[in-house]
Amino acid sequence: MAKQVYMFDEGHKDMKNQLGGKGANLAEMTQIGLPVPYGFTITTDACHSYYQDGKLVNTALKDEIIQALHQLEAATNKKLGDKETPLFVSVRSGSVVSMPGMMDTVLNLGMNDLTVEAQKKLTGNGRFAYDSYRRFIQMFSNVVLGIDLYFFENRLDQLKEAKGYISDPEMTEEDWIELILSYKDLVVKHTNQPFPQDPIEQLMFAIHAVFDSWNNQRAIIYRQLNRIPDSYGTAVNIQSMVFGNTGNDSGTGVAFTRNPSTGENLLYGEFLLNAQGEDVVAGIRTPQPIAQLEQILPDVYQQFVNASLLLEKHYRDMQDIEFTVEQGKLYILQTRNGKRTAASAVRIAVEMAEAGIISKEEALLSVEAEQLNQLLHRRIDNKADMIILTKGLPASPGAATGKVVFNSDEAQAYHDKGEKVILVRPETTPDDIQGIIAAEAVVTSRGGMTSHAAVVARGMGKPCICGVESLKIDTQSKRFVVRETTVNHLDIITIDGDTGSIIVGEVPMIEPKNSSHFHQLLAWADQEKGIDVRANADNKEDSLKALELGAEGIGLCRTEHMFMQADRQKVVKEMILSSSTQERKICLAQLLPIQQGDFEEIFEVMQDLPVTIRLLDPPLHEFLPDKEELLIEVTAMRITEPDSTLLKEKELLLKKVQELSEMNPMLGHRGCRLGLIHPEIYAMQAEAIFLAAITMHQKGIHVKPEIMIPLVGHSNELKIMRKLVIDTAEAVLAKASINMEYTIGTMIEIPRAALTAEQIAAEADFFSFGTNDLTQTTFGYSRDDAEGKFLQTYLEQNILTENPFRVLDKEGVGQLVEIGVNKGRSVKPELKTGICGEHGGEASSIAFCLHAGLDYVSCSPFRVPLARLAAAQATIRRQAIT
Ligand code: PEP
Ligand code: MG
Repeated sequence: MAKQVYMFDEGHKDMKNQLGGKGANLAEMTQIGLPVPYGFTITTDACHSYYQDGKLVNTALKDEIIQALHQLEAATNKKLGDKETPLFVSVRSGSVVSMPGMMDTVLNLGMNDLTVEAQKKLTGNGRFAYDSYRRFIQMFSNVVLGIDLYFFENRLDQLKEAKGYISDPEMTEEDWIELILSYKDLVVKHTNQPFPQDPIEQLMFAIHAVFDSWNNQRAIIYRQLNRIPDSYGTAVNIQSMVFGNTGNDSGTGVAFTRNPSTGENLLYGEFLLNAQGEDVVAGIRTPQPIAQLEQILPDVYQQFVNASLLLEKHYRDMQDIEFTVEQGKLYILQTRNGKRTAASAVRIAVEMAEAGIISKEEALLSVEAEQLNQLLHRRIDNKADMIILTKGLPASPGAATGKVVFNSDEAQAYHDKGEKVILVRPETTPDDIQGIIAAEAVVTSRGGMTSHAAVVARGMGKPCICGVESLKIDTQSKRFVVRETTVNHLDIITIDGDTGSIIVGEVPMIEPKNSSHFHQLLAWADQEKGIDVRANADNKEDSLKALELGAEGIGLCRTEHMFMQADRQKVVKEMILSSSTQERKICLAQLLPIQQGDFEEIFEVMQDLPVTIRLLDPPLHEFLPDKEELLIEVTAMRITEPDSTLLKEKELLLKKVQELSEMNPMLGHRGCRLGLIHPEIYAMQAEAIFLAAITMHQKGIHVKPEIMIPLVGHSNELKIMRKLVIDTAEAVLAKASINMEYTIGTMIEIPRAALTAEQIAAEADFFSFGTNDLTQTTFGYSRDDAEGKFLQTYLEQNILTENPFRVLDKEGVGQLVEIGVNKGRSVKPELKTGICGEHGGEASSIAFCLHAGLDYVSCSPFRVPLARLAAAQATIRRQAIT
């Protein structure tokens, strides 16, 4: 039978799958000589067996646990349950990937009526010993016996009130003893059993509970949200306790080796003197900044600085370290790669590479591409008039405006109605996870920068402000008060996560400006990436943004957006309503200079970078009013103003709308089918493109237009459209006596086009995979219907693991892309290929495109930085394989 329990000096950091992240790191830290309290880890395989055996710890595992316990006892010279030198342990969960606060933990295990006395004798501190015992009863009863914490807190509050105390430190040894009796009584009341005194029984119960917590509600939700497989299971870490609450030379804390918000290379964290375990993370007392430890316990501070430098070098990444100080000695309890904001991730990556701690490639791989989006988010315009209501700790950057809600259910309910909300709570617990997801931002009146709210919000890239002590929240009557100001349920507030400010009402925001670190990292990305990144842009502003964010050209200019602008709608409408080609041509003649102007603006911005312009794609009725609304209007007018000329016009319009109406417009008269039935529209567009290009040539800007025909399914369609464009181009160029290079290509967005790509390629200079439509046509889903009706259920039931409109379906749609590229290149090896569906801005799809041999990806301008980084990462990973 495989080994199911590992002592800390038997494992190492690459055993995450068996030992969980925490267990592997504890083992690694033990191996590199850091002061880690000794212990052992029960593997994730044991968790699988536990579930297979119907939630039972089998005898083999039990024996291994007892054996490991003996080893631990021998190493620490203590014994679980001993009357003189008792050992106390913590029992903690630890999954393969970190799931902070989602599963259960029991501290101080081994406490009972006898060992508490021994602990009192050993430490000479009876108050501490009994406080530890009552904490254990409370935690064990909650986690293992399932009794709500509220009952315990209530008893503590009652006792404090009876004694006239305000805070816990006023409680004496005798008070804790009295409370313990009351707690034991509570346990009997709820379970009909006395509180278990046998430490081995306590241990086995706790291990069961930790295994069970893998499947508690919040852990399941967290896994769904973060796409963590249910099959991982959790390991269990059993570690000898060190106590941070034995006096003022003890304490506990959490610190990052660098600032997780800004990336600054300075220790960043908090500690609480004379406090235990979860006190910092729970955010119940507001802790002190780590820098103050230097004054209070200088030796310990120096030990901590050394340990953090060692850990960062060893793990080659910024670390998030939990520590405890017991009577002046530092212990490291945990380390992991620290969660960080995008700004911080970028700065840390660049500075660690520049300092030679990691390579440029490692720096590029260390930043999650999707995170870069956070850097492109809006911020508060500080020049705007605003009255700051109050300030708290700036726990996660970014700004947000929304309606105030006071609990997670409401956050969810209003979010579902399409409202933007800000969740305001005294503190958050893991049960608030859904509320935090639904909210734009989170505010808490208690807790520090490492409280639950802060950690979770930073991980999600949501603004968060913590520890706003001036905020008096009344969750019952749903309002909060700051001095004289009352903010009620659903009032609008704005929060600034960069400064910690809370502002009443809405505040103007500004676009972000990127740091030198951001530019440096992306410059390295550009050196590495083996695929170009273009942007989808339809106007001057988008083109400017695309260039600013590093696009190497425009991969898709959707010309319908030019038709939709308000000042052209009248002519466009007239063009569509024309009853003859002749009439239509008159309207098109009016549109020609307008389109030409649009193209000139884009060419002017992009200079000699490639610009792919797609001819009109959507069905014509999209430019006309809604049929139902028009019908209602006309029906009403027939009664109210039967003789008006306006009614006549509206009736004519309705007739045309009815004529153009389609059962399924997604598969209807659109794309090149429009160009084939109304060649004059495409001819006008081609003429406008070449006239614009000529103007540019005359200005010395040598554009080489790339003209793209949409929705081709048969090579004959493309053949005719290609001829139309060439004829138009040649006529326009001949008239101007200018020679110009240009290319004509097509979108591959119909399965038949991919399957017959060698025929299509004969008519095309380039292919651009329109994976939005290709996904619709491959799956046979219309996107709007799918996303509005059944896709969510498909995702929840794991019928599909990802939304295929967001993440390219590699098996199906991807296969068509590969077929298309290979067949196309089989007849035209130099065929240029790209992707311009939304997948062009999604990291895993970009990696796919690189592997499929595409020349470029094209995505919306704001996703260009992400795409550059993702392209570099995919290239580096590919090199690592080959
Ligand atoms: C596509 O189908 O992927 C595409 C880019 O075109 P559109 O989204 O405009 O249909
Ligand atoms: Mg399309």
